Amino acid sequence: MMKFIDLDRQYEIIGKEIEERMAHVIQEKSFIMGPEVTELEDKLAAYVDRKHAITCASGTDALVIPLMAYELKKEDAVFVPAFTFYASAESVVLGGATPVFVDCDDTYNMDTEDLERQIQRVLREKKLNPRGIIPVDLFGQPADYDEILEIAKKYNLFVLEDAAQGFGGIYKGKKAGSFGEVSATSFFPAKPLGCYGDGGAVFTDDDSLAAKMKSIRVHGMGSNRYDNVRMGMNGRMDTLQAAVVIPKLAIFDEELEKRNRVARLYRKALEDKYIVPRVKEGKVSSWAQFSLLAKNRSHREEIIRRMKEKEIPVMVYYPIPLHLQTAFGYLGYAKGTLPNCEEYSERIFSIPMHPYLSDEEIGQICCLLTEMA
Ligand SMILES: *Cc1c(COP(=O)(O)O)cnc(C)c1O
Repeated sequence: MMKFIDLDRQYEIIGKEIEERMAHVIQEKSFIMGPEVTELEDKLAAYVDRKHAITCASGTDALVIPLMAYELKKEDAVFVPAFTFYASAESVVLGGATPVFVDCDDTYNMDTEDLERQIQRVLREKKLNPRGIIPVDLFGQPADYDEILEIAKKYNLFVLEDAAQGFGGIYKGKKAGSFGEVSATSFFPAKPLGCYGDGGAVFTDDDSLAAKMKSIRVHGMGSNRYDNVRMGMNGRMDTLQAAVVIPKLAIFDEELEKRNRVARLYRKALEDKYIVPRVKEGKVSSWAQFSLLAKNRSHREEIIRRMKEKEIPVMVYYPIPLHLQTAFGYLGYAKGTLPNCEEYSERIFSIPMHPYLSDEEIGQICCLLTEMA
């Protein structure tokens, strides 16, 4: 069976170093906030060119921690794309506010025209106060930051970049993780830069926001661990996980080049038959996913079935847009309100994507897809 994301091949390259680093943590028993955590934070901050990198327990916590720092209320609206992983919007509710969903464009990222339309609707309706925007770098491609930051300025909103999938991506020479007041990423094993469990990080240039987020990470601590000045959480990243990410970060740029090679080969072989991902000018994707559009839902089902027969895994990201999720039923969205993401959720599918796909595997995948186009 071919793997959707093959972590074995990466392990062949850096497995020994990962094991040595993990063994060192176990020897030292420095499981909580050991020196590897600080080492990783320094390296991550340098990588994305931000003043502060604060590691945490997951990508979800990396979104919740800044949202808690903003001290949001239920009447506060935070604008989130509807076509993304659930945590992008779940975090808004956990942070105490109300998500307002925005449709996507043909790159699957937040449609900035619809963003402004939704902000104006909220202002007209006067039930919620616009406070922030969470653009998502979906499938590895950074969102439209020039437009988004301009809209944020115009309406006085904070921008929290969700770079869980986009880490490693580039927008006009700047790395994903460096946009807006604060950015979040995830080290879930299947993300472009993953650990061996859950992990995440928050990035900012703002000293006072950084201090507040560090406090929230450890139960809202004040001058010491038993002085608590606000509500927080247990949101620390394990030292063992930091020990895994450090050697992975060292080969990350090489891996990104390899992912881009795979994407180029896929594009060349499939662009005449399928709608392949469009990467906008000035952007480099980290290729968290390579997604294609089938003609319709039944065409997609046929593709998935035939690929499975040949032991090629296919995934659907995302089958239900967030505004139609049961858990967000209380927001009262009807089907048809965000037409692009509703259509894509019926047609989209993702094929294996990792740095170590061989020409033979790529050929096999493209050959079968071409037959079914
Ligand atoms: C994975 C993901 C998250 C959450 O990350 P976890 O580490 O799984 O908590 C948030 N946003 C997006 C877009 C993601 O893909």
